[in-house]
Amino acid sequence: MHAAIIGAGLAGLTCARALQARDHRVTLFDRGRAPGGRMSSRRLGPDRHADHGTRAFLVHDERFAGQVDEWLKSGVAAVWTPELVMIDGPGVARPNRFKSTRYVGTPEMRAPIIDLANQLGTSVTLHRGRNIAGVHHSGSHWVVQDDEGEAAAFDAVALAVPAPNAAALLTEVPHLHAVASAVPMTPAWAATVVFPNRLPIAFDAANVSIGARHEHAGVLAWMDRESSKPGRTSDECWVLHAGEEWTRDHINDDAEAVGAQMLDAFFSATGVTRSEPTEIHTHRWRYAFPVAPLCDGCLWDDQLLIGACGDWCMGSRVEGAYLSGLAMASRVMGERSDFLEPCLPTHGRA
Ligand SMILES: Cc1cc2nc3c(=O)[nH]c(=O)nc-3n(C[C@H](O)[C@H](O)[C@H](O)COP(=O)(O)OP(=O)(O)OC[C@H]3O[C@@H](n4cnc5c(N)ncnc54)[C@H](O)[C@@H]3O)c2cc1C
Repeated sequence: MHAAIIGAGLAGLTCARALQARDHRVTLFDRGRAPGGRMSSRRLGPDRHADHGTRAFLVHDERFAGQVDEWLKSGVAAVWTPELVMIDGPGVARPNRFKSTRYVGTPEMRAPIIDLANQLGTSVTLHRGRNIAGVHHSGSHWVVQDDEGEAAAFDAVALAVPAPNAAALLTEVPHLHAVASAVPMTPAWAATVVFPNRLPIAFDAANVSIGARHEHAGVLAWMDRESSKPGRTSDECWVLHAGEEWTRDHINDDAEAVGAQMLDAFFSATGVTRSEPTEIHTHRWRYAFPVAPLCDGCLWDDQLLIGACGDWCMGSRVEGAYLSGLAMASRVMGERSDFLEPCLPTHGRA
């Protein structure tokens, strides 16, 4: 069996590693320059990164706990204990009582992904920078074609990509296309801001919900001080995450203008005196979070040998992506998976 996996985020790599363990041949494709997907970090310079996607992850399931233990032992993840607050008015910070254990990749969020990719053996080939544009049925095979027309045939295909990307590649499998199309995903703007000196802010991470009567209402949802995470440099670097509705309203705006508005909202929310950053970078995540994720483990057609996995199939978040990748591998290997159990809590955005 030679399987193609489209997408080398956590779900795709987890699936590839599980298939490799059972001696299957796998070819992984990702459109990015490096694997990681939404667990990618922005490189700011030598040994300097900012987690502009996943902020932190939580653990509920023992299968994921086993994986996280491996990451902790090999030093690619660590516990992060930020001073966490809620900001519900300009300059008004209250302690946040949500005390779950948070984990982060070290020295950057992408580190566990790099670790997984480094463990892939000779039976797995990883192609970066390959944007898959079509998946077509041909006799007993699936032909996977990239946007430059390069194609290859496989016995089975797993789409480990966000739901809208999966729907676009499932046009020849109407029943799976319909399921993936019914899982919209919200966009998110993220801004990484570096300051020359430490700012007088007493907390490390904040959940922001500024009331509608304020000028910057809805602009920010979260903010994190990167240097408070383990293994980071001491640079005063903050990653700001925009609110869902505000992102929708500004999704096609100029990135520089978005960064400027998010920075204004940051000073307003924290109440600190304005100072000029040395760097500001913005990133537009078109598909950040599934609106109504499934609890199915993964989608799979055991006659056609094609399916889809990812956070949106299993309750969302990093843990959901991992479990969905495992479920996908079971189905590719012809096993039923036992993932039809209550989904993970979705409130757990770390
Ligand atoms: C801003 C932000 C903050 C977040 N914060 C948290 C958090 O704090 N805690 C948490 O648990 N989760 C968080 N998440 C969600 C978490 O990042 C995801 O749940 C998880 O990373 C999803 O992994 P995945 O493998 O399912 O998908 P992805 O990571 O999206 O991987 C999919 C891969 O498929 C590739 N791809 C897509 N289409 C194609 C194609 N046509 N051809 C080739 N390659 C393709 C992409 O390049 C990508 O690498 C956050 C996400 C965002 C965007």
